[in-house]
Amino acid sequence: MKIYNTLTKRVEEFKTNVPGKVAMYTCGPTVYHFAHIGNLRSYICEDVLEKTLRYLGYDVKRVMNITDVGHLSSDGDTGEDKMLKGAKREHKTVMEIAKFYTDAFFADCKKLNIKIPDVVEPATNCISEFIHMIEVLLEKGYAYKAGENIYFDTSKLKDYYVFGKQSEDELMVGVRDDVTEDTNKKNKNDFVLWFTKSKFEDQALKWDSPWGVGYPGWHIECSCISMKHLGEYMDIHCGGVDNIFPHHTNEIAQSESYLGHKWCNYWFHVHHLNDAGGKISKSKGTILTVSVVEQEGFDPLVYRFFCLQSHYRKPLEFSFDALKNANTAYQKLKKRCLEIKAEAEKSADKTVNKEVFDEFDAKFKDAIGNDVNTSMATTLVYDVLKADISAVDKLALIESFDKVLSLDLTVEKEAAALKIDPELEKYVTEQIELRKAAKKEKNFAEADRIRAELLEKGVVLEDTREGVKWHLA
Ligand code: AMP
Ligand code: ZN
Repeated sequence: MKIYNTLTKRVEEFKTNVPGKVAMYTCGPTVYHFAHIGNLRSYICEDVLEKTLRYLGYDVKRVMNITDVGHLSSDGDTGEDKMLKGAKREHKTVMEIAKFYTDAFFADCKKLNIKIPDVVEPATNCISEFIHMIEVLLEKGYAYKAGENIYFDTSKLKDYYVFGKQSEDELMVGVRDDVTEDTNKKNKNDFVLWFTKSKFEDQALKWDSPWGVGYPGWHIECSCISMKHLGEYMDIHCGGVDNIFPHHTNEIAQSESYLGHKWCNYWFHVHHLNDAGGKISKSKGTILTVSVVEQEGFDPLVYRFFCLQSHYRKPLEFSFDALKNANTAYQKLKKRCLEIKAEAEKSADKTVNKEVFDEFDAKFKDAIGNDVNTSMATTLVYDVLKADISAVDKLALIESFDKVLSLDLTVEKEAAALKIDPELEKYVTEQIELRKAAKKEKNFAEADRIRAELLEKGVVLEDTREGVKWHLA
């Protein structure tokens, strides 16, 4: 297996700490809203990576956190907690928001054939582990108390910018025009490990700690949760490129200072999904979700196919036109695979020719094992379809490749095109108007009741800057 490592900026031979075993960690979603299809591009690519490792024979243990506290509006230490923002937006408690959007995230993963990691742990489960790590960092002199918060002291490290390259200015999050610098910090990039004081006194979730009642910073959770389940040595850590700085840089700083040795060998970063307006993000108007893709009549797996056609290390531009092209190609490919399946099932001799299987399988492993080259791996499916081999061999190969690609190439399903019942559409429109009126009269209980009633009918409302949008759950 060859893999690009953001730490060394090279494609390297993948060597694990323990032969045959992979300790893998994924930064999970911040569950204050639906995941957008950009987030899900990262999770699709990471899913393919995990399945590739398994396909190549590794015993993989994959851990993922759920960020339900501490991720502030900026990726640094400024702004309100995203979870609290979500709770205010929907007049719910933070934990209700966390539960709702965690479930929604896994529902999306299911539609996209993204496997659930072996361990999923919410940050709020691990407060005592965070406190312990912070205590050790204070003892070792890597952290300090200022203005009643605990900060990591980046000046204590020889090389804080482990991912290199960018200039200090480019990396600064605390010096944006709209952000006031935290004067407690000794160095500009020091980051909060534990808050007891912040601008936002109404932080909903707080815990007792040796430094007073407060809540953890965002980065500490990934260090602690990964060590809790994977131990002191990790093979590979994943996330989107926006996680490189400050999140992963800070994770490494605190983990290696705590452990006193190197922590993770390979860093796998997925490039962004963009649309015509730039990076797809949750703060920009309507969130492009899997449900929106479905409402437009696409099978969610068409989006997975679309993602697999490009390399994870290249930015990918999304448009519905591009998705339409992917749909045409996907449906054609699937039709051919289903025809082969029917032919293979009719065949009297069901024996798979091992030599033929191994030859194509080796090519597939070369492609997918070459820094997860999904488009080359998909091309192998076309090569198998064209090859002068039996339908039984073709089916065995395609089903085998699909363990990694997870495109349901040989699974028969009803045609995707989701039709929305006009009666339901009329009803939802009326209810949205009634809810708007209730909100105007500050009757939030009634507004919430309408939202809950629609949800029971499988209709999800989204309050956006352009007004209320809805989609099927
Ligand atoms: P969040 O829910 O904001 O914590 O992000 C979840 C994951 O999605 C992280 O690994 C991010 O790096 C990744 N991500 C965020 N925006 C995009 C995007 N536009 N394209 C691809 N990945 C993204
Ligand atoms: Zn993380």
